[in-house]
Amino acid sequence: MSIISRRTFNKKITQGLAGTALLAGMPLACGMNTSNQDKKLGIALVGLGSYSTGQLAPGLVNAEHCYLAGIVTGTPAKEQQWMRQYNIPEANIYNYENFDEIAKNDAIDIVYVVLPNSMHAKFCIRAAKAGKHVICEKPMAVSVAECDAIIDACDKAGVKLSVGYRMQSDPYTNEIKRFVKEKTYGDVHYVSSDAAYISRGNPNQWRLNHALSGGGALMNMGVYSIQSNIYGVGANPISVSAQEFTTRPDYFKDTDETITAQMKFPNGATGNMFTSHNANANRLFVSFERGWAELNPCHNYGPLAGRTSDGKEIKFEHKSQQMMQMDDFAKHIKAGSTNFAPGEMGKRDMIIVEAIYQSIKEGGKTVPLDLGTMGIVTS
Ligand code: NAD
Repeated sequence: MSIISRRTFNKKITQGLAGTALLAGMPLACGMNTSNQDKKLGIALVGLGSYSTGQLAPGLVNAEHCYLAGIVTGTPAKEQQWMRQYNIPEANIYNYENFDEIAKNDAIDIVYVVLPNSMHAKFCIRAAKAGKHVICEKPMAVSVAECDAIIDACDKAGVKLSVGYRMQSDPYTNEIKRFVKEKTYGDVHYVSSDAAYISRGNPNQWRLNHALSGGGALMNMGVYSIQSNIYGVGANPISVSAQEFTTRPDYFKDTDETITAQMKFPNGATGNMFTSHNANANRLFVSFERGWAELNPCHNYGPLAGRTSDGKEIKFEHKSQQMMQMDDFAKHIKAGSTNFAPGEMGKRDMIIVEAIYQSIKEGGKTVPLDLGTMGIVTS
């Protein structure tokens, strides 16, 4: 091992090659082309709940620019299972207590925080302090102040930050953005977006516990509606007013059940959003001067579907949104390509979330917003 250091060697063997060839007893010098693998960035998932298990880890299996290099879990029983399933070396397994030691691990380039919302800020800041690039799940945090703290920690550490907004890497979303940008059907006059599902699960789940979630439907699904209203117009709202509805107070004791909000945009367009833990709705409708475009479903893992007023179907090959999202962020780190979901976007959405809660508290009053182009990604 005279030419490459042990650390570099360790990093290379953990980058997928180890998972397949080495563990199967194949020697390194077997003629396999490792150059593509070498370029992949190692991601460590923090929190192995349903999203990491069902979407992120499977999405990483076919990713081109990153791979699942490590895990951080508070449940020891998951360690062996994940090591086996994803060929993760023991050196890349952490728990919430020893997590900061990840700083010494060159195999991990990116830490992806997939914990309950109120834990995002703490773990993102720890990851940044460990010198790792950060992906923070949505909603970015439970307050604007926490978003600022995450952004600040990443800036100070000189690491990149992205929010887990998978829709920003999705071709259906990008087709709507293209219609808006190119004015295919003229200017946008009205946008309407729904993001909701009926929650009937365990009433003690963290999503219904304000201390862990920071809020109910608005924090969970509402951020999708906020996002699609904004890319459906191509601008940030200049004001918002909102209403809250509760029909199952025994179940939604601690968090909001249903919220509707109206937005005003700088070009005069109006926006409606609906989010709920007590209805199934998943749609974006954009009304232009000379027609309309609709995605329905719009915010789920796909396949999505869309159509336009002139009878065209919006259709793309179905790919894992999570794979595309993580690949986009890895390319941003490696090659400086666009960060489609920067921290500023997550903070902007939290400013709107706080304005919506403020409006509800003040009886539906219109709350002005001064966001300029904050969080608008154009390329
Ligand atoms: P989950 O309940 O399935 O998993 C939560 C994980 O956090 C578990 O591994 C659990 O053990 C761990 N955890 C640590 N401390 C905990 C505590 N005090 N209480 C509860 N769990 C604790 O949740 P999930 O659906 O995987 O969601 C995790 C995050 O991912 C949330 O922020 C959520 O908004 C986000 N998410 C995003 C998407 C998306 O499409 N981008 C989809 C689902 C979830």
